[in-house]
Amino acid sequence: MNSVNTKDTIPFLDLATIHIELEEELTEVFKRALHTAGFIGGPVVEEFERAFATFCGSKYCVGVGSGTDALRFALIAAGVKSGDVVITVPNTFIATTEAISQAGAELRFVDIDERTYNMDPAKVLEYLENRCTVDNRLGVVIDNKSGKPVTAIVPVHLYGQMADMDPILEIAEKYGLMVVEDACQAHGAQYFSKKENCWRKAGSVGKAAAFSFYPGKNLGACGEAGAITTNEERLAQKARMLRDHGQSKKYYHDMEGYNGRLDSIQAGFLTVKLRYLAEWNNKRQVAAHKYDQLFSPVDGVIAPYCPDWAQAIYHLYVIRVQDRAGLQKHLAEAKVDTGIHYPVPLHLQKAYHGLGYQQGDLPIAERAASEIVSLPMYPHLTAEQQSRVVDEVVRFLDREMLPGQVRAGCPSLEVGQGTA
Ligand SMILES: *Cc1c(COP(=O)(O)O)cnc(C)c1O
Repeated sequence: MNSVNTKDTIPFLDLATIHIELEEELTEVFKRALHTAGFIGGPVVEEFERAFATFCGSKYCVGVGSGTDALRFALIAAGVKSGDVVITVPNTFIATTEAISQAGAELRFVDIDERTYNMDPAKVLEYLENRCTVDNRLGVVIDNKSGKPVTAIVPVHLYGQMADMDPILEIAEKYGLMVVEDACQAHGAQYFSKKENCWRKAGSVGKAAAFSFYPGKNLGACGEAGAITTNEERLAQKARMLRDHGQSKKYYHDMEGYNGRLDSIQAGFLTVKLRYLAEWNNKRQVAAHKYDQLFSPVDGVIAPYCPDWAQAIYHLYVIRVQDRAGLQKHLAEAKVDTGIHYPVPLHLQKAYHGLGYQQGDLPIAERAASEIVSLPMYPHLTAEQQSRVVDEVVRFLDREMLPGQVRAGCPSLEVGQGTA
């Protein structure tokens, strides 16, 4: 038997260790909830909301039931309504687009930047300039295909790295659009705004932002949870009503809402874990640098690209290779777990057949989807584990080569290694 097979599996994500380390503090939260029977809302939720708003550098935080709730309520509270058109990217989790559709809006996808995998501002502009008509009289921009007004842009800070927000905000301002950040993978990520000459945290840049605290996220609950951040008091108030059946006070409903509250046990867990988030993000960054270094002499692998205006918090560490299926199979045999985020771009999903997109419509996202692999990444990942992962990637690439053949460079584009 191959010696590799006797080694322990390197998991894609290690959720247990973090929670075992915090067992006492987390158990205390649970006990306090049992003793006070404070299960929904109340001071524990408010304490977390204050702490998370501070962490994000935003004025308000509204705790909700999930990241999907957060996106849906943020969009509705911002003013997206039935009959609007909302712009987003195809390479994200479907919750982004479900929220847009559930707010009543129609989706328009724009392609991504091939190096950052985030929304390409030039593609947003191209869509607005070439496929929309500005109605100066009404002060709106109309999507030519549907005749509906375009009202918002949802950039997704994918893998823990923020989208290029300065140009996105500039385009939004020019066309009178709202910007709602999908920050579900970006708790603590930062963006250097040249316009403001300062670093800005995810969740503090757009009109509103949505966070998920799904267990596997950089800040995760021990169950389902999410939050909206915003600097606008009215938007926060509306989001608070939306999460609680449209109530302005108990049994007085100003509108219909949802059951989308954050429960206090989860809020208590999150308050404890938030104290460690900066440290955990830092450990992920150290691990990402380590991967970057190990991959820098390796041809045939594109490591993540982090521009100097971004500080990524590496929710995922995603590389790109030509033979993705082969690499995944090899790594599985070597007991290295991997993932794909995401294998099918949303415009090609069955759920969105009705939108009329076709293969080839968003080529950069489509090509990326077929070449990306997410490697193990979590705060407790060790340097030895990382060396083993990279050794196995190299072993695979070497094995694929025929004798005498020189390994091809990057799969489908020429880019440098990540700088951070
Ligand atoms: C996790 C995630 C969501 C959804 O969050 P849930 O808490 O699972 O509802 C939305 N968008 C992105 C980009 C995500 O990664």
